[in-house]
Amino acid sequence: DPILLWFRRDLRLADHPMLAEAMETGGPLIPVFLHDEVVEGQGAAPRFRLGLSVESFARDLDAVGAKLILRRGRALDSLRALCAETGARAVWWSRAYDPDARARDAEVMAGLDAEGIETRDFPGHLLFEPDSVETKTGGYYKVYTPYMKAVRDRLPDAPLAPPARLPAPESWPQSDRLDDWHMARGMNRGGAVVAKYLVVGERAARDRLDRFVAQRIADYAIARDRPDIEGTSGLSENLTYGEISIHACYRAALAAREAGAEGAEHFRKELVWRDFAYHLLHHTPRLISRNWRAEWDRFPWSEDGDSAEATAWKRGRTGMALVDAAMRELYATGRMHNRARMITGSYLTKHLQTHWKIGHDWFADCLVDWDPANNALGWQWIAGSGPDAAPYFRVYNPVSQAEKFDPEGAYRRAWIAEGQADPPQTARDFLAAAPRAWGLSATMPYPEPIVGAAEGRDRALSAYATLRGRA
Ligand code: FAD
Repeated sequence: DPILLWFRRDLRLADHPMLAEAMETGGPLIPVFLHDEVVEGQGAAPRFRLGLSVESFARDLDAVGAKLILRRGRALDSLRALCAETGARAVWWSRAYDPDARARDAEVMAGLDAEGIETRDFPGHLLFEPDSVETKTGGYYKVYTPYMKAVRDRLPDAPLAPPARLPAPESWPQSDRLDDWHMARGMNRGGAVVAKYLVVGERAARDRLDRFVAQRIADYAIARDRPDIEGTSGLSENLTYGEISIHACYRAALAAREAGAEGAEHFRKELVWRDFAYHLLHHTPRLISRNWRAEWDRFPWSEDGDSAEATAWKRGRTGMALVDAAMRELYATGRMHNRARMITGSYLTKHLQTHWKIGHDWFADCLVDWDPANNALGWQWIAGSGPDAAPYFRVYNPVSQAEKFDPEGAYRRAWIAEGQADPPQTARDFLAAAPRAWGLSATMPYPEPIVGAAEGRDRALSAYATLRGRA
């Protein structure tokens, strides 16, 4: 009987524990991708980018003699139907850790088990399984540094070679056509992520890692903080769909460190942050939906995502140039530099006194590297409501941050067309991507800050005093 291999956020052939084990059975394998309830719930840009990843993976499977079977509908229904059609008695997948995916997987497991169909889940998305890292008293870690200490000496998995050829079933079940799914439809909100900024698929992800290690990892510790230069790997876009394995990145970091590259250790620490985010999400699913620290429920945040302030933030029209540049980069490219994520997040939650959930949800709609764990941890960290968070009273000053991390203003000029006689292509790409209803143009005046740097700080600190009961 064939085994159904249900691919989700693991769209690669190399370094794939489930695939490697399936190959060892020697039996026929049917790769499947489902447009299910979880995919349905994703934001516009992640769903669009996922579609490109599926397309690329289907081509890679073709090249090894297999097909990626596509079905749309509830996961359990689709898998039941596929088992009936193909005679498969087993469905395998790589484990997921966010609450939506876990609920779906539990339902699938119970439903298929009841029919005597074997279900198995495999590791592969993380370096270390969340339950395998414990404090001395058997709990989970809430703070990064001791977590890092606990995993520091563990080694990544050894490489698993991609299969040369997948054993095919006697006949392939019918498949949807990817085009009919219209994965880009949500992007028709007026604009689109500009495709030239994307790097899609397993081969491209691998090249990206190799290039980063050859050219940039040595300077990473310093260059990573500069949104005006290409100092980071860009791999989040690939890691989130599993186009490259985290183990491959980790091995590359360790090898570079061994070879004396200074920034390699720092890069490794960032990879561990990703695992830490999943560790926390696994143990406290509320990370994604509620203030991790319940006392923050009393904080007087605005929860209106359509307020004038939240709207200006989303559209890159706050008048605070670094914030606006970053929000525009996000809209046009589906990406945003990490330092800029911290500054825009701080500006929204502190200067604009707006709930982090508004920013979290906007990022989840716009980021091509949207990752349920990293996005939630990032927002709760910057807002101050999370575990191991930046203290709330540490308010990023968007003016001095810009002077420090974008010293020549190159990043701001790259994205803000207003006031430039001949705006660069990036700034024009944003204007082309922005919905017409936003009414933006290169010739309109650039706004004054809606909340100034110092004013925002005062606003934030007095709201914080209320929370502390000292007002
Ligand atoms: P590099 O600097 O090259 O780092 C390599 C990898 O390490 C990244 O690809 C990522 O997997 C991991 N990493 C790096 N920084 C972090 C971090 N701070 N936390 C967790 N993992 C990290 N990252 C996402 O992947 N998806 C998100 O949706 C996301 N949302 C965020 C929201 C906010 C408010 C903040 C502050 C951060 C968020 N991050 C998110 C983390 C970080 O900004 C991105 O991972 C990083 O910018 C990706 O660029 P890169 O691949 O070039 O990173």
